Amino acid sequence: ENSDSRILMQMYQDAAKLYSHILTKTENGNNALKYLHDRNTTDDLISDFDLGYAPNDSNLLLQFFKDRSIDESTLRKSGLFAENDQGEMFDRFRDRMMIPIKDENGRIIAFSGRILNKEKGVAKYMNSPETPIFSKSKTLFNLNLAKRGIREEKNVILFEGFMDVMSAYKAGVTNGVASMGTSLTDQQLYTLSRLTNQINVCYDGDDPGVEATYRALTQLNDDRFNYGVISIPDQKDPDEYIRSEGAEKFQQLTKSAVLTPISFILRYFRRNYNLDNEHDQLEFLNKTLQEIVKLKSPVEIDMYVGQIADELNVSTDSIHKELENLRRKNA
Ligand code: ATP
Ligand code: MN
Ligand code: MN
Ligand code: MN
Repeated sequence: ENSDSRILMQMYQDAAKLYSHILTKTENGNNALKYLHDRNTTDDLISDFDLGYAPNDSNLLLQFFKDRSIDESTLRKSGLFAENDQGEMFDRFRDRMMIPIKDENGRIIAFSGRILNKEKGVAKYMNSPETPIFSKSKTLFNLNLAKRGIREEKNVILFEGFMDVMSAYKAGVTNGVASMGTSLTDQQLYTLSRLTNQINVCYDGDDPGVEATYRALTQLNDDRFNYGVISIPDQKDPDEYIRSEGAEKFQQLTKSAVLTPISFILRYFRRNYNLDNEHDQLEFLNKTLQEIVKLKSPVEIDMYVGQIADELNVSTDSIHKELENLRRKNA
């Protein structure tokens, strides 16, 4: 670690401290604090995750660091500032609730900022750009706190949103992380593989979340891991579910309602495909066989073959034959 990185990390820590002070201790933070309280974010959570507020001011952080004699090139490298056409810097995050993003050791290396109110054409979340201390492909939000829970629970829960991770954590589900809005990279998978061999996907229960779950399951075929799906009812996301149903029900859901990939995929296709139509039937068969062929337990295989045979009104024999063909093709 060079001195450059040390200075940048110090800047992020100082910025987080400033944003947190503004949120919790100043008049300027009242709206943001009200926003958080309105969504049931407790002061406990605010302090555990060092949440803050960046006011609607283009020069606050810039002046703060100029006063501390941070040189221009370091300011530019930090990612905390954007530049106009003239190359003049200004605060990147303005009028946003600020979520510090930390490395595995709990050091702040980036921010995600959320707008307080829906505005057309403004991204709901804005993340720090890549910097010498922040690479989004290597970072997992909350890994610093979740490491312990992941080891204890012997699985990691993958959430879509940072608010989901934080709400879950405060609800006693302490093994959750989120990627930075992308699918898991090899580096992230490697990091997780040192802690566990079970990844449970717990994305939003709305349509985009269900689609993303399907994509994740079909893309994640790293055989160091077993996969599961925690499906949130009523189109809710985990944070909304916890708010409406409470911590205990959410804990139960994450412990006893973990679907196998095939169970999820069967459900997914029943929902998305019209199984009265031959083309869709074949597609359904194709996709589900791709998953069944990965199974080793004959009992499990029989169970799913039986379900599919029922569903499509064909014999279990013909499905077993299809499976045999697929195995030969894959060999
Ligand atoms: P909130 O509860 O604050 O509305 P969310 O996590 O439920 O946030 P979703 O709309 O469900 O937000 O999106 C899931 C995740 O996708 C977000 O947490 C964020 O990481 C990412 N995301 C959503 N909108 C954007 C955006 N405009 N730009 C970048 N990332 C985004
Ligand atoms: Mn969503
Ligand atoms: Mn969501
Ligand atoms: Mn949400």
